[in-house]
Amino acid sequence: MDEEKIYEEKRRRMVERLVAELNLSQKVAKAMLKVPRHLFVPFPYRKEAYIDTPLPIGSGQTISAPHMVAIMCELLKLEKGMKVLEVGTGRGYHAAVVAEIVGEMGMVVSVERVPELAEEARKILEELGYRNVMVVVGDGSEGYEPEAPYDRIYVTAAAPDIPKPLIEQLKIGGRIVIPVGYDMQYLYVVEKQEDGIRKDIWGAVRFVPLVGKYGFQD
Ligand code: SAM
Repeated sequence: MDEEKIYEEKRRRMVERLVAELNLSQKVAKAMLKVPRHLFVPFPYRKEAYIDTPLPIGSGQTISAPHMVAIMCELLKLEKGMKVLEVGTGRGYHAAVVAEIVGEMGMVVSVERVPELAEEARKILEELGYRNVMVVVGDGSEGYEPEAPYDRIYVTAAAPDIPKPLIEQLKIGGRIVIPVGYDMQYLYVVEKQEDGIRKDIWGAVRFVPLVGKYGFQD
């Protein structure tokens, strides 16, 4: 069997396990089956790409564990055609999964503060043909005003609190999924309504810190 077929088979088994453990929806499972995580992982870790674990991607950062990507996608309640803001691109894996779900009529705007990671993500996403993902270098704790408002926003690094600009850049009826906290972190699901926001806590999580104006200090 050639190497790509081996990775495809490993990916199929990983998604099968996630479906069983997390009761994943068809649309999230289908997207995760499609995105070749091994191509988003730096070469030395490629063989571990289908183990359900975070892995180093350089600059002291990580690619999130597949189960976390799956859970966040479910909590976001993504639909085709949505415009989504991701804060913390890393090497672009999670953005690719979301791009599969929102489809060609949808769009993912992803902000990364480390220019080298943003560049790698752009290259990988372009090679794989993701035309509906736009990678921007900047402080995503301030959101990305030029493309606002967004149907959904998710943050892949833990913030001290929900950054105000993210709430402002979210449409009414929209959702934010964001880890909040430092030592003890919880994944918040935030809904924006006409009269304010409603917060729910999904559970305890572990993420790298969000560094920026509405994040932690560098
Ligand atoms: N989305 C990635 C994936 O596909 O697995 C995971 C990214 S990693 C867990 C979190 C990322 O957030 C890191 O690449 C880090 O550089 C980035 N980050 C931290 N603070 C940020 C900020 N203020 N704005 C944008 N990116 C930030």
